[in-house]
Amino acid sequence: MLKQVTKNIYLVEGKSNGRFPFCHSVLIRDRITVLIETGCGREILKEIEEEFSPDMVIYSHAHPDHCAGSSIFPAERLWGPVESRESTGDIRRMAERFVEQDIRGDWISFMTEVPELRDFSVGNYFEPEHVFDFGDTVMEAIHAPGHTDDHYCFYFPHEKIMLTTDIDLTSFGPWYGNPESEIDPFIDSIEKIRGYDIKTVVSSHLGVIRNGIEEEFDRFLDVFRERDEVILGFLSSSRSIEDFVEQALIYQKYPYRPSILRFFEAQMIDKHLKRLVSKGLVEMKDGRYEA
Ligand SMILES: [Zn+2]
Repeated sequence: MLKQVTKNIYLVEGKSNGRFPFCHSVLIRDRITVLIETGCGREILKEIEEEFSPDMVIYSHAHPDHCAGSSIFPAERLWGPVESRESTGDIRRMAERFVEQDIRGDWISFMTEVPELRDFSVGNYFEPEHVFDFGDTVMEAIHAPGHTDDHYCFYFPHEKIMLTTDIDLTSFGPWYGNPESEIDPFIDSIEKIRGYDIKTVVSSHLGVIRNGIEEEFDRFLDVFRERDEVILGFLSSSRSIEDFVEQALIYQKYPYRPSILRFFEAQMIDKHLKRLVSKGLVEMKDGRYEA
């Protein structure tokens, strides 16, 4: 279950190999014991609680694949981003934040059935640049919006480790499928994160990456441009958002919970199209797009 990264830092391998709707967590065993992320699966979290009883439990943002199991821990041990203090932990309000009205029931059933999201309360909040002191291990909270407004990465300056959370370097590429997600701040956040002195990346969905980190960041960033090109290619004739969703240019297919995945696809395509319109590369007329 635990994979040692440094003397005090361990990867907690998540259910489904940390793939959505789960993630890998990180355990720090120092003067105090700290768990980062509660999306690794409830069974694993219960084992962690039994064996290590973490003094602090921190999640990087309010997506259920990062915070679903928080109810296992008491509020006074839980820390979350201040940006989402109004809604995180209240499933209904999280659904209102992340998806449109007609699929909120689907979203709630998926998140409660698979990553087993339960309502939880949070006792403590961190802000941008908050420095956590765990003993020998120090961790800086870096606000990295774009994926969501409350998205954070965590930097360990002594070990030069960056926990990049959902700047996850997967082959899928960056994800920005919520109404609040935005492409340009996401790009700025990736540039900011990669500017740190990094020897090791810990990605929430890929685990530990020690080699070719610069190339991985380059490739991940390039996905924005590749998606622009694929979208422009599909605009050989005028298209509606529905045409795009049917084509699944980003997701390729909708193998499970299609209503939710189609919503995410539409959101991501829409953000590209708006950006292409603002650059003068695409025109919108009567709800249809043309290159
Ligand atoms: Zn996320």
